[in-house]
Amino acid sequence: MESVTPNDGGCLDYISSKLAAQGFVNETLTYGRVKNLWSVIDNGGPLLVFAGHVDVVPSGPIDKWEHDPFSGHNDGEFIHGRGTGDMKGGIACFLAALERLNAKDLNYSLAFLITADEEGPSKDGTVKVVEELQKRGQKIDYCLIGEPSTIENVGDNVRIGRRGSVNINLEVKGKQGHAAYPDKVINPIHKISGFLKKVTEEVWDNGNEHFPPTSLQLTNITAGVGAHNVTPNNLYLKFNLRFSPEITADHIKEKITAMLVEEGVEYEIDFDISALPYYSNPALFTEVVKQSIKESQGLETQLSCTGGTSDGRFLARTGAEIIELGPKYETIHKINERVEVKELERLTDIYHQILLNLNEKTKA
Ligand SMILES: [Zn+2]
Repeated sequence: MESVTPNDGGCLDYISSKLAAQGFVNETLTYGRVKNLWSVIDNGGPLLVFAGHVDVVPSGPIDKWEHDPFSGHNDGEFIHGRGTGDMKGGIACFLAALERLNAKDLNYSLAFLITADEEGPSKDGTVKVVEELQKRGQKIDYCLIGEPSTIENVGDNVRIGRRGSVNINLEVKGKQGHAAYPDKVINPIHKISGFLKKVTEEVWDNGNEHFPPTSLQLTNITAGVGAHNVTPNNLYLKFNLRFSPEITADHIKEKITAMLVEEGVEYEIDFDISALPYYSNPALFTEVVKQSIKESQGLETQLSCTGGTSDGRFLARTGAEIIELGPKYETIHKINERVEVKELERLTDIYHQILLNLNEKTKA
């Protein structure tokens, strides 16, 4: 189904009907153009939420694809298509795992939070549903997100957090002039050189047990009028930081501003914090997931906080213990995104085992 953000392509109706058959109560929460599904089976006890998104990024040039990106072509070994890995595969596996048992008999409650706005602006999706749930006083104990997390073998890597991201636009002001008269010009390229060295050599933090250190990359620099003998009037610089919870966005702002002041440059700067980092302290649910992966796949999983950002950052606000576990992320967002059929079967086994093991842990 073609479901490029913010369209769900009928996926939410399909999932709703599957869940209704299991006794779930479905609710559609619509914000702007985005439909979100909140579906609950209330057995009392703690609440486990399975969270995910049915929207996908655009396919890119269709003629470059081996198979129609929206056909879901299954060649027996792989299912091809946009969203197979990120993240309809994970959702399908969890639905399949659920069908192996009777959800009404579990010792805990179960809910689905499925959005169609994760790949896009992420303004009318999970964030809004979480706000609504908090208004209702809905407590979430555990949260499983089916985002692709696997490196090589299904379950070898799960995420318990993600780094934050900040985009920075800097304009350095100068005074254009003739290259032959240096005392008559203010050259913004010269003015910024000290700052560039400092900002790229800065050790922001050392990360921690689960997070790599904060890193900065300069992504674009432009200046000049195109002639050898004219100095530029302005310089424009773009850079991005991926930051760990060991540092705050405010601290990053202060540090960068102080560096610019120290260099004595005239500037304008704009900070866009596109995502805050989140971290979920591993506790009971993490143990259940690790044990389930071991029992069903015979491997030790690693806990990490790598990758881009995810809706986990909104769910973390509920205080839930969060795990992101899904298929391989190797082909996601690329031309010829695909997922191995075997991989999906293994992921279904793991999810099933998690449902069973959590049932043991929540026995009265
Ligand atoms: Zn995703």
